[in-house]
Order: sequence, then C-alpha cells, then structure tokens
Amino acid sequence: MGDSSVGVWDSVLTGLRTQIPSTSFETWFADAQPLDYADGALVIGVSDSVKKGGIERRFRDTIEGIAASVCRQPVSLEVRVLPGRVEAERAVEKDNATEAFAAVTLPLNPDYTFAAFVRGENNRLAVAASEATSDAVGRNLRKPYNPLFVYGSVGLGKTHLLQAIGNAVIASDPSRSVVYTTSERFAIELIHAIRNNSTAAFRDKYRQVDLLLIDDVHFLKGKEATQEELFHTFNDLHGNRKQIVLSSDRPPEDLSGLQDRLVSRFKWGLEADIQPPDFETRMAILREKAAVRELEVQDDVLELIAKRISSNVRALEGALVKAIAYAELERQPLTPRSIEGILPKEGRRPRLTVLHIKEEVASHYQIPLAELDGASRKKEIAQARQVAIFLARELTELSFPSIGREFGDRDHTTIMHGYSKIKALLADTPLLSADISELREALEARYSLVR
Ligand code: ADP
Ligand code: MG
Repeated sequence: MGDSSVGVWDSVLTGLRTQIPSTSFETWFADAQPLDYADGALVIGVSDSVKKGGIERRFRDTIEGIAASVCRQPVSLEVRVLPGRVEAERAVEKDNATEAFAAVTLPLNPDYTFAAFVRGENNRLAVAASEATSDAVGRNLRKPYNPLFVYGSVGLGKTHLLQAIGNAVIASDPSRSVVYTTSERFAIELIHAIRNNSTAAFRDKYRQVDLLLIDDVHFLKGKEATQEELFHTFNDLHGNRKQIVLSSDRPPEDLSGLQDRLVSRFKWGLEADIQPPDFETRMAILREKAAVRELEVQDDVLELIAKRISSNVRALEGALVKAIAYAELERQPLTPRSIEGILPKEGRRPRLTVLHIKEEVASHYQIPLAELDGASRKKEIAQARQVAIFLARELTELSFPSIGREFGDRDHTTIMHGYSKIKALLADTPLLSADISELREALEARYSLVR
C-alpha cells in the first residue's frame, strides 16, 4: 500500500517534470509526498493549503492522466495538507498566503545532481566550474570563482547545474547553509518584506548563507528595488567570502535594464556558458534519461529523437517520455517508424507575437481566445486578459498603445492599468506568480524573444 503509492507518485513526478517548467515544478511539487495508493485512489500530502488548491486546480488532470497510464486503470487524486508546517498554515488561514510563501525556502530537487548531468563539449566549462565551486564551499576552501555566472538559453540545464552545486555542498557538509532562489522569487519576497516591515528577517535569510544560488537573473530587468537589495546582499556575501552562483539566459554584458554596478559585480568571477548539445551529447542525455527511468530503448529510436530535437534538453527529454507513453498506450513496439509521426519537427523558433501570448494564456486558463479581446468583466476572464497584457508588455517591445490595439482596440490607459494591476498583485499572490512564471517559461521555450 504505502510502497505502491511511492512507486506511482515517483512515476507521476517523472512525467510531470517533463511536462511543466522546472520553476513551477519546484514551486508546486518539491515537498509533496505520496501518502497512499489503493484501488485507483492516489493520496498525496503537501505543506499548505495554497499548494493543495493550486495542485487541484492546475494539475489534477495531468496527474490523474499520468497515474492512469502507469497503473493501467483510472486514478483519482486526493490532496491533503500535512500537519506540522504550523506557521505556514497559520499564515494561510489569516488569509495571508504570501507570508507562508515567503517563509519557505525553495527545496533543492534531489535528482538534480552532477552524477545525473551529462557532460559534453557544450557544457564542459560550466560543469567543471560548478564542481570546483561546490567543492570549495563544501570543504571550506578558497573560492576559485566568486561569483560563478552560468548562462545559456532555456532548457539547457542551468537550473539543474545550480541545484547540483547545492546538493553536492550539502552532501559533503550538511551544516553548510545553502539557499536556492529565483530572481523573481527574491523580488517577491523583498516586496513582501518591505510591506510587512520585515526587511531585517529578509536580510538575515540571504546574508547568513554559505552559498547563495540565484536562478534566472535576467528577470531582474526593470526591478530597481530588487537590484538595489541584491547589490547589497552581493557585497555582504562577497565581502565575507561566501559563495554566490548566478544563472541567466545571456552573458552579463548583454543584461540590458540592469544597473551597471550590479552587472560589473556579476563579472568579478567566472562566466561560463552552456551551448546546445551536439548529437553525441544528445544521445548520451537520452541514454541517461532512459536509464533513470529503467527503460530500454533501441538506439535507432534514440537517434531519431536526437536528430529531431537539438536546441533544448527539456524538449529532448519530453519527446522521449512522449514516445514511450505513446508506445505503451497504443500497445505498439517502440520503433523509429511508430514514433515518427508524434515527434515535433524542430525548425527555427518563430518570433513571439501577442497572438502567441493570447493562445497560451487562453489555453492555460481554459477560456475561449476571443474573450481576451472581448468586453467581458467576469473575474476569471478579466484576470486572464490582464495576465496576457502583462506578458505582452514584459515579453515584447510593444508600447502600451500598440498592445491596446492587439486587445480589441483598448485605450492605452486601460492597458497600463491592467499591467500595473498584475504587477502589484504578483507581490501578494503566489498562485498568480507561479502561473506567470509557467506561462513565461512555456512561451520562451517555444518562441524567440526580442528584448
Ligand atoms: P534551464 O534552467 O537552463 O532552463 P533546466 O536545468 O531546467 O534548464 O534543464 C531542463 C531539463 O533538461 C532538466 O530536466 C534537466 O535535468 C535536463 N538537462 C539539461 N541538460 C542536461 C544534461 N547535460 N544532462 C542531463 N540532463 C540535462
Ligand atoms: Mg531554469
């Protein structure tokens, strides 16, 4: 009983990881635990009611779908809030979800290790520098690179590497204090701390660590107060010889919209890039991913997948999982021929347009696309529309008036209002901020952005 729930939940997590961006995966599932599985009923436990609500609302269908294919019978999901996280829960009960959100440090994903990270020409320097860094922190040696700045485009393993450093440090010395966060989360926690007069606690959290891992610093663009705070955090840690590791989708010199003094500090240590993997490395990654799942897949199948998908490792892994699921569900042997039709044909990524954003938002919230241009003031539609407007402003170069034209010819003041409303809400609404990160990652994975 207990054992089978672990097995089912493991398979569900494996499937989920390839279907949703890693930041949302971490937000929602990092501390979820399987409690029971019997007769098509899967019970999991999470730490607070915000997560329970979010998982039920956003992921129920996906989880039940994956579990059904693993168990070969329909599965229904039940989510419970585990006792023990009293403070977090109390904050939620006070209807102050942000407090619960801010209090919890993001856990590291234990699967993101150096051992599970395949090396190739594309990432050699980044991996070597990451290992040297974790070794120095774990054994309290002189830091060879501080900060270590890892950059590369989406889906190439930045988050995996950052977390591998954290995992390795804790494995070598569990008393080391390691904090992993994303720049967006850092920003949200800061805004929250300012509002609640708890900046001292915020500073303690970030300035008393041995290792600070900050993922996706390109999202600091335009966030002045956050950059200011990070600048001081950086100086403090660096001055105390504590290690900082940063990731970004581009090298420091290309981070427009960030303060020069911050960017110049990002260049103090080592910049290591990750490029898309070559064919041999893609094959090695596919073999590793199949081995982790204890699956035997013919080389000719892996070769076809590796040929088709070249620029994003998450997509590569997703295609493998999709191929396996397809073969199982259709009860067909896994051959190049049987999966040919389901593999995406990867070309150049088209440039992101407002229409792409609208399509993604409409399908995310399951509302008709036309409603985004329409006049409905129903709460869920109005909010989805504002989310789309927010993303249009953040991810394209369009002005407020041009965005207005794209949304049913709305006046630019309406667009500015929608944009600021979401921006303000983000600070207090973890569910919304997870939604937005997820949408943003999905769009960035599929389209190219001009910024
Ligand atoms: P990024 O943060 O750069 O967008 P992630 O770290 O989230 O990318 O990686 C996406 C997925 O690809 C993860 O599941 C990760 O484990 C996997 N991945 C990326 N590069 C490698 C690699 N070299 N070896 C094994 N897995 C990899
Ligand atoms: Mg990442």
